[in-house]
Amino acid sequence: MTANTDWLQRSLTAVWHPCTQMKHHPALPLVPVARAEGVWLEDFEGKRYLDGISSWWVNLFGHGNPRINAAITDQLSKLEHVMLAGFTHQPAIELAERLSAKTGGALGHAFFASDGASATEIALKMSFHAWQNSGQTQKQEFVCLQGSYHGETVGALSVTDIALFRDAYAPLIRNEHVHLAPSPDARFAQPGESAEDVANRAADALEQLFVARAGKIAALIIEPLVQCATGMAMHHPRYLQRARALCDQYQVHLICDEIAVGFGRTGTFFAHEQAGIRPDVLCLSKGITGGYLPLSVVLCSDTIYQAFWDDDVRRGFLHSHSYTGNPLACRAALATLDIFDKEGTLENNRRLSNVITKALQPLASHPAVRHFRHTGMIWAMDIDTAQADFSRRYFAAAMERGILVRPIGNTVYLMPPYVLSESDAEWLAGQMLSALHATLA
Ligand SMILES: *Cc1c(COP(=O)(O)O)cnc(C)c1O
Repeated sequence: MTANTDWLQRSLTAVWHPCTQMKHHPALPLVPVARAEGVWLEDFEGKRYLDGISSWWVNLFGHGNPRINAAITDQLSKLEHVMLAGFTHQPAIELAERLSAKTGGALGHAFFASDGASATEIALKMSFHAWQNSGQTQKQEFVCLQGSYHGETVGALSVTDIALFRDAYAPLIRNEHVHLAPSPDARFAQPGESAEDVANRAADALEQLFVARAGKIAALIIEPLVQCATGMAMHHPRYLQRARALCDQYQVHLICDEIAVGFGRTGTFFAHEQAGIRPDVLCLSKGITGGYLPLSVVLCSDTIYQAFWDDDVRRGFLHSHSYTGNPLACRAALATLDIFDKEGTLENNRRLSNVITKALQPLASHPAVRHFRHTGMIWAMDIDTAQADFSRRYFAAAMERGILVRPIGNTVYLMPPYVLSESDAEWLAGQMLSALHATLA
């Protein structure tokens, strides 16, 4: 069985696809992928698609990356898995130390889990419990931003402000203890206002909330620089500086959710570096294994870690996942860090990013495009159209042209693997423009 159609039919019945109304298939092009290499996905009939969104933002260094393949294969011959309670292993230790070093040693303790939503759950529980252990038992509330996305488990949804993901489950979500602060999204600029002005305005509102409630607030959770899932909302780093200062002043933990924006995506290794700050808690996942294996890590400060140091088991951090610290995933992550350290990724990305920005200019100046924006290796633009099904139609037009670009609502964005060649980048930009013409025609 090699034809696309055979696999398609079986997948539609047996596999329940994520974030999908199954009834929309097979009108939607569900694509059976037979193999992948570099930035290219290939189906069973040999048709190729350029992976313009890094397979949901996880794939940094291409599919079938030789370094990561070799690391996993080597680990496979030594130790595939062992429980991390009562046991330890070299890949987990090395990864914890190397990630901590990337924070300048500020966040020296790593808690492992398997996906992003779990990292959010861990960060919230950790902050709450640290305050409980420190005698600040009234600190039980959280602040998240308008348009925030921190995952789709019930706890993570309590700090997620995306109606589509939340409304259907509203009765299950406990969020009377969650405050929504205005987003510093630069698109909210009034005439004459700069992105920095919007950031300051949003920070002023945050301060008012802290003045009123800080005694009860455990943590502020934010996606630094780019709120991705809401539609690539970008803000000025000034907001992060103000948020850090306010959290210090009012004794609130700052949780940076860098699940999507970490690992070089915004141009620096971590996004928060661009504000010259450090959070108290840092959530990492997605690109951490180069898109190979599920893994997340929550890094925290020594102050938080020390709040759990006690003879009483109940004052320890009560959280665990079966695959915590899986050695294969940790080795994939170590190989990913090796690539950053040995191949000058951040510097190469600065060059590549200029090429991509230039290639996207014809798209940026298209009459239907609003708010063309760019941070590091993320580009986005809003399309002014009344088509209710724009997103699906654009996706289909893009697939016909051999590119995987999947808009969020009316926002078309590009988040490619870092191994995109300059000529492929130029071709991709041309196909994106052609797909826009076709969709709007
Ligand atoms: C994707 C994402 C998550 C959730 O990660 P999953 O692995 O999908 O659970 C959380 N926060 C942000 C910012 C994300 O982009």
